[in-house]
Amino acid sequence: AKSNRKNTFAITDQVTQNERKRAMQLTRDLYDADLDRDFFVLFQPQVSATNHCITGAEALVRWNHPKYGLISPLEFIPLAERTRFIETLGGWVMRKACLQGQQWLEQGRKPITIAVNVSPSQLRQEDFTKKVLEILRSTGFPPYLLEIEMTEHIFIEGMAQIIETLNELHLHGIRIALDDFGTGFSSMQTLVELPFDQLKIPKEIVRAAIDSEEKRAIVKMIIQLGDRLKMTIVAEGIEAMVEAELLTGLGCQTLQGYLFHKPLEALSVEPLLDQQA
Ligand code: C2E
Ligand code: CA
Ligand code: CA
Repeated sequence: AKSNRKNTFAITDQVTQNERKRAMQLTRDLYDADLDRDFFVLFQPQVSATNHCITGAEALVRWNHPKYGLISPLEFIPLAERTRFIETLGGWVMRKACLQGQQWLEQGRKPITIAVNVSPSQLRQEDFTKKVLEILRSTGFPPYLLEIEMTEHIFIEGMAQIIETLNELHLHGIRIALDDFGTGFSSMQTLVELPFDQLKIPKEIVRAAIDSEEKRAIVKMIIQLGDRLKMTIVAEGIEAMVEAELLTGLGCQTLQGYLFHKPLEALSVEPLLDQQA
């Protein structure tokens, strides 16, 4: 038994060592990556809970690694966040997303909001608002159709600076969404003080709501709170009709998930928009 345990440790060590090696390699490769060649952006439509028509789309970045192929943002975003590369990548995603949104508008398609995820270190840049406004100006995309998504992890450090930036963005008409609400650290206080237009309920909480009456009560409370604060509520990760029905019944206005649409290439979103025009 003793040697067995030793073996297990040896294997675990090997695994973490390989993981660390891969992380280091990928971090180096991020630096060498060519944004336009190696990265692309998918758009996952969000639909109205009442008629399932598309009202918006979330931009989700993908890395096509020259050697390893497609890598999940769950793996490379944390690596990019450890260096300033996230600022470059994040800015690139935002420009891409706004360019696409503007192209759809110019083609006469139905206007939808475009949501872009931003990392804490992006929001902490002194000139973040300036950068966003420059992207809007140069692409022509209207501020009221751009939505910036951030998670509660943003509130761990440098809160004062971030509040200022969020207020500035909001004053310019840009929408602000709190992603993965209920998984981090935000208090009622932050919800009241910050200019959020939208709360996103993560898939874990959606799943939990199906399972128990108590969890349903929590979701109900979140939705009521959002209503009182004039925020729209989006339920994420909707995979089953029962989930869509439950969350709609509880008062969510917007739904997002594989049941309706997966993250798609821009070209595949177009016929969906046209169908509904
Ligand atoms: P997120 O912002 O919470 O995005 C939603 C994730 O859930 C996406 O994963 C999406 O593909 C996935 N998803 C959508 N519908 C369903 C469903 O019905 N079931 C399940 N199981 N999953 C669903 P993805 O694209 O792999 O992105 C993972 C995370 O990476 C994102 O989570 C976000 O935190 C981060 N991320 C993606 N793109 C960017 C970006 O441009 N910048 C930053 N900072 N982070 C990004
Ligand atoms: Ca998001
Ligand atoms: Ca989310």
